Amino acid sequence: MDKLQEALLAWYAKQGRHDLPWRHTNDPYKVYVSEIMLQQTQVQRVLEHYYFQFLETFPDLQSLAEASEEQVLRRWQGLGYYSRARNMKKTAELTAKSGLPGSFEQLVKLPGIGEYTAKAILCFGFKQPAAPVDANIKRVMLRLFGETEQSRAKALAQEFLNTQNPFEHNQALLDLGATVCMAKSPSCLLCPMHSRCRGKSEPLRYGERKKVNYETKTLHLLVAQKGERYAMKKSADTLYKNLWGFPERKKPPAKAQKLGSFKHSYTKYRLSVNLYLASEKTLPRGCEWVGPQTLPTLPISNLTRKAFALLER
Ligand code: SF4
Repeated sequence: MDKLQEALLAWYAKQGRHDLPWRHTNDPYKVYVSEIMLQQTQVQRVLEHYYFQFLETFPDLQSLAEASEEQVLRRWQGLGYYSRARNMKKTAELTAKSGLPGSFEQLVKLPGIGEYTAKAILCFGFKQPAAPVDANIKRVMLRLFGETEQSRAKALAQEFLNTQNPFEHNQALLDLGATVCMAKSPSCLLCPMHSRCRGKSEPLRYGERKKVNYETKTLHLLVAQKGERYAMKKSADTLYKNLWGFPERKKPPAKAQKLGSFKHSYTKYRLSVNLYLASEKTLPRGCEWVGPQTLPTLPISNLTRKAFALLER
């Protein structure tokens, strides 16, 4: 174990992604923000468009707690999985005075914080010897120890944890899983643990990804216009709750002119979206006329952006 841990840290010192900003902070809040953003989003996207911008607007739990949900959603716009942003705001409201707790039991009680995120906050924010296991670390553990039983990954990660340097140890495992021990084509010859890895002869046997069962759905959106203003509605739907978009109908409107259609993927859904020209009297209740002054201030989803792009074309 000691030799493996040493080899891993030596590799990390040379090959690790040391430039990631959340690896240079002791602030549990910043670690928390990065972990939530990285749950469903590529590192590069988070770095370029979200991490710094979010922290500039909400530098601490207090500012996040005091913001309106609309402001938080607006800053999150385009990242998807908006329940993450709503949960962050709720967590900030609960912890603004005390700060994020440094205990696993208390962290997992907070909205949107599961086992992985709690352990990541403990390890990277509080420097505690916790062993977070995401898909990358799970794959590395199962392969390294030649274990086919998926549920053993957490126990293996805990046994393998370098308690002298848990921060770098876990960051190294995350990097190894992302850049060397990759799901489909691991580069075993470049791996610092190659000589002792039990799974290297058949790496694809271990740590398979869960198959996602996608659901297909068709959306019918109404586009009504008054001069430069569009009829828009705040969504009550769980997926896009409190985001603004074109009003929706369950069935395509009779005799309405179809303006176009496009495809969109969101969480487990593969959506076919149709846009129809609508008159004011066919609109559902709760629509508001939104002009070019207001539109940029509202939180909207990527689906609504795509709809606007189609209208422009
Ligand atoms: S030797 Fe190959 S399978 Fe084993 S941990 Fe390294 S990259 Fe993964």
